[in-house]
Amino acid sequence: MQLPRLGKLRLKEVPVTTGRILSATASKEAGTWFVSLAVETEIPVPIQGEIVVIDLGLTAFATLSNGEKLTAPKPLAKHLRRLRRRSKEHSRKQKGSNNRKKSAVQLARLHRKIRNVRQDFLHKLTTTLAKTKQELVLESLNVSGMVQNGKLSRAIADVGWSEFRRQLGYKTRWYGSTLTFAGRFLATSKLCSGCGYQLEELPLAVRTWLCPECGASHDRDINAAMNLRKMAVTAA
Ligand SMILES: [Zn+2]
Repeated sequence: MQLPRLGKLRLKEVPVTTGRILSATASKEAGTWFVSLAVETEIPVPIQGEIVVIDLGLTAFATLSNGEKLTAPKPLAKHLRRLRRRSKEHSRKQKGSNNRKKSAVQLARLHRKIRNVRQDFLHKLTTTLAKTKQELVLESLNVSGMVQNGKLSRAIADVGWSEFRRQLGYKTRWYGSTLTFAGRFLATSKLCSGCGYQLEELPLAVRTWLCPECGASHDRDINAAMNLRKMAVTAA
């Protein structure tokens, strides 16, 4: 695209319907320039297909109510381990030293790499979901609230839930899918999706459990997703 004063620019994210550009806004963030465009487009044809509830988790990035588990790419975990090690090494280097300056540059590069791998993963995932499902139901978690809450914070910030939601938000509009939110329901993992029996407690470490009432065997995440799906259908 061509912008006044800036000249020709190559776009990284191109919506499916290319329409008339109404306005462009440039902003700078951490030394990188971003351009947001307001584009006039036609409303896409609504997708007919599956309604899927997405349960965001820490072991699997997301579990779908159809039983599918989506995991983050392996290189990401490898880079994150390297980042933790390098950060520690960096903090031990003498302030103001050349070594510290050098390691700061390396750290920034690693951060960028992680961001790119994660963005790539999230973009592929959200594009596939928004292009193939009629409706996507997300649990309305208070992500920013949870990020402030100590121990969970690093893991959650790392897996990029907020970015996932942001991308699903605009991509469902681009491709004719719908994004809805199911109210937060704390007991989803403790409730048997078969008979409705409610467990007293279910420690985070327990990944599978057997319902004492009906004998059904549950994968923690899939069971939670099934419960959310039921609620979403009831709400509709
Ligand atoms: Zn049961």
